[in-house]
Amino acid sequence: MHLLQVSQLQKKYGNHEVVQNVDFHINQGECVALLGPNGAGKTTIIKMILDINKLTGGKILLNGKRHDQMRKFIGYLPQHPTFYPWMTGRELLTFMGGLSNIEREILEQRINELLELVGLGEVENQLIGTYSGGMKQRLGIAQALIHQPKLLIMDEPVSALDPLGRRDILELLKVIKQKSTILFSTHILHDAEELCDKMLIINKGQLLVNGSIHQIMEQTQKPIFIIQAPRLSEWTHQLVNEDIVESIELTGNAAKVR
Ligand code: ADP
Repeated sequence: MHLLQVSQLQKKYGNHEVVQNVDFHINQGECVALLGPNGAGKTTIIKMILDINKLTGGKILLNGKRHDQMRKFIGYLPQHPTFYPWMTGRELLTFMGGLSNIEREILEQRINELLELVGLGEVENQLIGTYSGGMKQRLGIAQALIHQPKLLIMDEPVSALDPLGRRDILELLKVIKQKSTILFSTHILHDAEELCDKMLIINKGQLLVNGSIHQIMEQTQKPIFIIQAPRLSEWTHQLVNEDIVESIELTGNAAKVR
């Protein structure tokens, strides 16, 4: 049985169908990238999995079942996490652990382990307001893991960071993925390839490609490689299956499909 099974997922805002019949699954232990340009529908899909956004159509099952409180099972790092700046890192994790009703002694031990894992041990008693962007992302990851979720979902966790900060967080995620199941949303192919085994490439609410890069290359003898990822000076060529769509071009933040 798949850990997460998404079937015929659909979301409409008025007449605008922003997610169209999307099917995919995630198995335990996998790291899956949700890759697509801005506006493709990544956040909408994530928020439907989390049961923040209501589904227009389709089904989402975790271990074969429908759950009312997905947040109990899923750790979530939103695209723009906000933290109370007058709390310390440790205070925030204690507070969040309290919300999950974790017993005090177990919680303290878990916070110690998480702070060490994300490399914030030395600044745990500093105010979050003094943290850099990368430190806040590390704290957000620790916060998402506090209740030992079955699935960790991160929405563009490295996109807002400078290249060095991005590298640091990717290295941290490589460690975390050894023990976690991850859904990692990004618009940068390079990051998806580096971290994940499987890719879901999405554009305009449609799932174009689903599989490992290796499989995708094997399945089509004529891959055409497309997308440009607008990220500082990096313009990474990206892959899309020519059988499905001829080409996608990203110009700035806009995607054109031909
Ligand atoms: P991504 O995460 O890939 O950047 P989103 O899921 O945020 O994409 O957005 C997908 C599309 O849905 C976009 O066209 C966006 O404008 C639209 N959208 C997102 N949220 C809303 C909303 N609350 N109301 C109307 N349209 C929305």
